[in-house]
Amino acid sequence: MDFELSDEQRLLRDTMRAFVNAEIRPVAREWEESGRYPEEIVALMRRMGLFGLLVPEEYGGMAADMVSLAVVFEEISRGWMGVAGILGSHSLSCWMIARYGTEDQKLAHLPALATGERRTGIALTEPGAGSDLQGIATTARRDGDSYVVSGRKTWITNARHADPLPVLVKTDPAARPPHAGMSVLLVDPAAAGFEVVRDLPKLGYRGPETCELVLDDVRVPTASLLGGMPGRGLQQVLAALEKGRINIAARAVGVAQEAYDQALRYAGEREAFGQKISGFQAIQLKLADMAIKLQAARLLTYWAASRADAGERADLESGMAKVYASEVALECAVTAMGVHGGYGYSKEFTVERLYRDAPLMVIGEGTNDILRTVIARALTSGRGSVG
Ligand SMILES: Cc1cc2nc3c(=O)[nH]c(=O)nc-3n(C[C@H](O)[C@H](O)[C@H](O)COP(=O)(O)OP(=O)(O)OC[C@H]3O[C@@H](n4cnc5c(N)ncnc54)[C@H](O)[C@@H]3O)c2cc1C
Repeated sequence: MDFELSDEQRLLRDTMRAFVNAEIRPVAREWEESGRYPEEIVALMRRMGLFGLLVPEEYGGMAADMVSLAVVFEEISRGWMGVAGILGSHSLSCWMIARYGTEDQKLAHLPALATGERRTGIALTEPGAGSDLQGIATTARRDGDSYVVSGRKTWITNARHADPLPVLVKTDPAARPPHAGMSVLLVDPAAAGFEVVRDLPKLGYRGPETCELVLDDVRVPTASLLGGMPGRGLQQVLAALEKGRINIAARAVGVAQEAYDQALRYAGEREAFGQKISGFQAIQLKLADMAIKLQAARLLTYWAASRADAGERADLESGMAKVYASEVALECAVTAMGVHGGYGYSKEFTVERLYRDAPLMVIGEGTNDILRTVIARALTSGRGSVG
């Protein structure tokens, strides 16, 4: 068992850390506070090739392993989790197109997505269905060489920048079980009837936009049906979400690490009752607990990523990593606020942002309740095990 990153992964981590320290940290508080879209950071990430993380090399991407992907998301999230969101659903959908797309679809989209010239996201959630994806109401009716799509999607990250936007639809609403009639369409945002109708106001996760959109009889060529075969959509999306959960777990590790770092630094500076507060045992116990849980979350995340890299199904592992790391991030954010006393409640200190960003990781790519049911199903069916 080797707990070390490879030389290449260490180099990537150091490069990312230097980039985040130089380009993201100095602007994060001000830009996040104002809700400004970080175009300049996106331009730099494009130059670094980060939009091609999960795009195969033959289409111009990096074809990174999942441990490297985790390292990238962790480092960015130490500086500003919202920026990681710009890469998150983009990378997930790049993987999905590369894995399931027809050769024509790959050639049409992946080279431009790899450079970030075009970007993407994923539209699953609807006002009436989030966890219960088989309950979606968006339909795609076949009409000659097109599908005519009607419905409404909500909470869609990167919606204003996605081209194409993969949209989960029902191509056969009467199918039983419902997933047999579900498909993914790669929707051109310039198509008539496609409209991003509003940006949702959010607690945190500022930077990327998260929007509601309407599809009003949007004509989508049948050539844009992901993989060319209807009825495969839910399976394609669930496989992509497995990768997405590793990215969410890694973001949570980044937030937890930053919370710990901020708490440690503050405890070493702040004085009370004539001594540094780091000298109080109550503070020391908090720091120790944060460090233990943070490192456990990191190892669980790298383990899940390694299993995915081995080409094995990793829904159990990625679910465990996502659930645990997100709950550690939440706990570390609250604990770090406590270590800061009243200043933890101030917008002038970083921990306040971590406290607003951490809960998203509990919700995104499957709520932790849903993932606990996924984990339990794998365990009770004998498909997965621990020990
Ligand atoms: C900032 C942000 C960005 C997002 N970005 C995207 C995006 O880019 N694309 C996208 O498609 N979606 C996105 N989402 C949506 C997100 O994936 C959903 O919010 C999430 O899947 C939960 O769905 P829901 O909100 O409809 O909650 P619901 O499914 O209504 O769940 C409500 C509560 O009930 C619980 N629950 C539901 N069913 C069960 C069950 N069977 N067993 C136990 N508990 C259950 C849930 O755990 C939760 O606590 C985003 C959400 C946020 C907040």
